[in-house]
Amino acid sequence: MSLFKPTIALRKVTDITPEILRMLGTDAILLDVDNTLAPPDSKIPYEGVQEWIDSTKACGIHIVICSNNYRKRIKPFSDSVGLDCVAMSLKPFPFGFNRAKRKLREKPQSVLVVGDQIYTDVLGANLAGMKSILLLPRSEEHGWTIWLRRKMEKNKRKKIKLYGEDEK
Ligand SMILES: [Mg+2]
Repeated sequence: MSLFKPTIALRKVTDITPEILRMLGTDAILLDVDNTLAPPDSKIPYEGVQEWIDSTKACGIHIVICSNNYRKRIKPFSDSVGLDCVAMSLKPFPFGFNRAKRKLREKPQSVLVVGDQIYTDVLGANLAGMKSILLLPRSEEHGWTIWLRRKMEKNKRKKIKLYGEDEK
């Protein structure tokens, strides 16, 4: 399997249902923040995100935020939505995922990584033996590193169909 291929792809985080989590055998989720839960550097989550976090936790799923962004950005956001966090996780390298996994005490096969980038979230999950859900980026981004990663993703994304929208 390609290291750049997610287990499935969806439009947005709130499209992740308890049925999908059951299908993937998920006990725990490692969640990206920027462009996944909220616009980059925004304190306000996208619509429905807080409700999704609360209802997913109520299903018995453990959630830890795992972001490459700085602690001063990630910690206040995580506190405000009621989640534990690992900042500066250096995705796609395994350090942050391993730190989060130790917090969770889960086997990698039952951990699901959710994020909007192939070269950090999806590649990192595949290298760690975890499942992944790739989301569509939702907000405009700035900076040359993200511009480059989006350019590199472009052809790979074309081959990835959104789950449940195959017949289009
Ligand atoms: Mg992101």
